[in-house]
Formats: sequence, C-alpha cells, structure tokens
Amino acid sequence: MTFVNNINSPPSRITLRDLFSEPDRFIFAVEIETTRGLAMEEPANRMARLAHNLVDFADVDVLGLTDNPGGNPNNRPEALGLQLHERGQEVIVNVSCKDYNRNGIESRLWALGSYGFDAVLALTGDYPTAGYAGQAKPVFDIDSVALLEMIRRLNEGYPPADRSVGAQTATIRTSFFPGTSVSPFKVRESEYLPQLFKLAYKIRSGAQWAITQIGYDSRKMDELQRYMALKQLNIPVMGSVFILSAPAARFFHRWGVPGINASSELVELANKQAKSEDKGRAFFHELAAKQMAILKGLGYRGVYLSGRPSLRHIETIIGIEKSFGQDDWKDFARELQFPLPEEFYYFEQDPDTGLASSQVNQNYVASKSRLSRTRKRLTQSPAFTVGKLTHDVFFDAKAPGKKLGELIYKGIDKTPKLVQRFAHCTEQAAKFPVYGCHDCGDCSLPDIAYLCPESQCAKNQRNGPCGGTKDVRCEVLDKDCIWSRAYDRLKSIGQEEQMLERPVVFKNGALQGTSAWSNTLLERDHHSSNSEGQKSR
Ligand code: SF4
Repeated sequence: MTFVNNINSPPSRITLRDLFSEPDRFIFAVEIETTRGLAMEEPANRMARLAHNLVDFADVDVLGLTDNPGGNPNNRPEALGLQLHERGQEVIVNVSCKDYNRNGIESRLWALGSYGFDAVLALTGDYPTAGYAGQAKPVFDIDSVALLEMIRRLNEGYPPADRSVGAQTATIRTSFFPGTSVSPFKVRESEYLPQLFKLAYKIRSGAQWAITQIGYDSRKMDELQRYMALKQLNIPVMGSVFILSAPAARFFHRWGVPGINASSELVELANKQAKSEDKGRAFFHELAAKQMAILKGLGYRGVYLSGRPSLRHIETIIGIEKSFGQDDWKDFARELQFPLPEEFYYFEQDPDTGLASSQVNQNYVASKSRLSRTRKRLTQSPAFTVGKLTHDVFFDAKAPGKKLGELIYKGIDKTPKLVQRFAHCTEQAAKFPVYGCHDCGDCSLPDIAYLCPESQCAKNQRNGPCGGTKDVRCEVLDKDCIWSRAYDRLKSIGQEEQMLERPVVFKNGALQGTSAWSNTLLERDHHSSNSEGQKSR
C-alpha cells in the first residue's frame, strides 16, 4: 500500500479530471464489479484479472469500482483500486451511504485521499439485501447530496485549522474530483423532474461530473443533454451502457435492479434474439456499440460500460462501434427508443429526428396553468394544507408568529422537566397521528411538503428522491415515493420547481427524542442559520 505524500500530484496517471479537460475526448470507462472474498482468490481474482488486463488495453481510459453493489457485502473497491493506481490506471471509486454513517464516510474519505484516490462517485446506494446471519441494517445517515457537500467542504479545508497552542496550524485540504449519478429514465413527471432538480442540487453541492443510470431510450438521453443546456448545468456527463442479455432484460423488467427499467417491447426483442444460434450475443454487442455511437452523437463526454464484460466482449463492441459511419448514430437513435407506457418527456418530440425538440412539452406547460394548479390544490391532503399554514404562521424564519413561538418555548425551557415533557407530548399527539412522526427532533416536514422522511422513506432521504423508484413506487416500501407526492403537493401551489433550492439538510442525531417545535423556534435544528448546512452556503 502506498500513501501519497503530495495528494495533488498522483503518480504518472492520466486522471479523470485530465481526461475531461480535453474537450474532444470521448472517455471509455468500464465498471468492475467488486465481489465477496479475498482479492487474491476467485471470484474476486477474476474481476481483478479483468481489471489488470484492461490496464494494458489502450482503448480503456478509466475503471469504475463498485461499492457493495446491489446491497451485498463485497470487498472494498480500494483493495483493487490501489493495485491499479500503482500501475498508473485511473479509477473511479464508488462511495455510497448505505453502510456507513457520516463519521464512517468521513473516515473513509480521509483514507481515500491519503491513498491518492481523487475520482469518487458519490451515491446514496442500494438498500442492503444481504448480510452475515441476516439482512444488514441500512444506515443512510446522509445521502448523496450531503455526501457531495461533505466532499466539497473537505476540498475547501474542513475541518478548519486548529489554532490552539501546540495544535496543527495548516488547514488540510483534500483534492477529490467528485461525480454523481443521474437518472433520466423515469416514467412519471413527479418522479422524473425531481431527479433533474436533484442533479442541479448535486452540482450546487459540488458534483463536477456525472454518469447516467442504465436505460434504453435515446430520446431521454437527448432530453437530458438539452435540459442541462437549458438550465446551464455545465458538467460533463458519461452515459451508461449495460451489455444486455435476455435474462438481464427480464430481470430489469421485473425491477430486479431498483431504478432500471426494461419495457415489454425490449424484453420481447431480447427474448427473440436469444433464440438465435449465438444466443443473441452478436445482437447485444451491436446494441451496446450503437448505444456508444448515440452517446457520441448526442455530445456525451464518454461511456460507462457495465454488465460484467469480458475483455473479448469489450474489444468486439469497440470494433463494431469503430466500423459505423459518422452519421449512423442518428438512425440508431431513432431505433433505440424503448419507453414505458405513457412515459413523460420534458420536451416535445422532434418529428424529423425522433429525439427531443427545443419546445417544452405543451401538456406539461398547460398543467402549470393557474386553473390546473387550483384543481390540483383541491385534491391535496389537509395534512399538507394545515402543516404549511402552521409553518408559515409560526415556524418560518419570517413568520408573523415566530417571535411569539420563541417566547413560549423559551419560557417552557425554563419550566420543570415535567412541564417540558407535557409540551413535548402535546406536540407528539398532534404530529404522530397526522405525519407518523418518529420524534427525530430535527424536522424535515417543511422540506418535503409535510411528509415525514423518518416514517415514510426507507432510506430517510432528506435531500431529494434516491432514484430507485419504478412508476413512482418506492423500491423498498409498498407505497408511492414521498418525493413524488411532495412534487404533486408543491405543484398545486406553484412551488415544485423550487423544491430542492435550499441548503443541504444534515439531520442532527443529537436531537432525537426532543421537541422539534422547540428546536426550530430556538434555532437548534437544521433550519437555523447557524447549522452547518446553512452556514456552508
Ligand atoms: S420531527 Fe422528524 S420524525 Fe417527526 S415528523 Fe418531523 S421529520 Fe418526521
């Protein structure tokens, strides 16, 4: 293991940052799935062998190393990443929030920085599905947005230098090059647009590049590029290409991997091809090559190839892609569109190309009219209307009743514990039946349109939807995603586009079991201008 003395100058290796700085370069990245077991034994060794072979393969620029994919416990990406770095190979280390709390993640980031890893992919992570002697307890203390914010602060020099006598005086800065994921492959407006808002939020929180989710709709891929240009989200994006097979298509169709969809039409096509003599191998390789060509044509900055490819398959796909004519991608893009029934698009379709036009979806525009919003408002839950009204009158920073609330709670703070407990019980009596309050003490109801992330979100997502939904259903719980519901609620009052335009929320675990009303009014929670999330803005 090698510690890097100067973390700004890793050993001779073309970094992802370098690669993105070449505007005409199309980056070829391959995902290496980490496995359970020791790095020197099968099957981990098989993946390590592939990674080492790819180091010598000139067409591959970067290797992405997964972090307990699918919620399974695997060897850490760093184990293989260190070996690859020593050979001058750039790697992207995935860092997810499912298995570590914020201290575990910070500790891991210090270790990653010390070893010279700078390209990190910040992810919320899959819900744990396995573990020793039973399923592991998911952590999700923070999410991908908060993780990006943490990395940004570490890069800026957090924690600040300790100036006390005898202590260190130099501020320590990391030099991470953080990236993120984005999913344009969502079916409903209420799950799709929050993903795009979250991308903007992640960029404000420090994301410097992105990788798309796996998907099979060129129009959506084009739409993401257009949306980013429209909203000036100026970071480079690589598109994911998964080498499909008939079993994989069926698995995606069954929602075997949260967040990845395969339409019935695509499954039918995959099944048909699988009946051929080569089991569809040539077809699936050509499909991946066509997807690569489309990404190039649409202006993506690279491809992120996954699906446990072998070296031979990678060579074949690259060879096919190189054989295409310059404009062939346009026909491929028209051909490779497998949306789900009634899929929502932000832009109207361009009849000439079959891709996105520059005109925003007219039905969507109409749905934002005053009349439509008023109609929608009439169907909203009273929990939203009453919660918002109470917040606007008493709890908002500019609320007319805030001073009165402050006075009352300052008074309650001075009363005996029994009185304080009575006030807390009164609060819980109001919040538990309506919101399912879990008494976390650091309330995010106003952040999520009066839906409680503690009781109604399996991953306790406070900074936007995780990306695992299918047709707005949660990947874990048998219910609609709270963020889709929040979008609908906020759309009824014309505030949906601002739903993630706020400082990043870090829940303060120290407030568990204390009065959230008191904590908000007396500025002890994340709404306070003194909180870490608010101060860093
Ligand atoms: S205080 Fe915490 S647990 Fe209670 S409603 Fe608010 S976010 Fe949910």
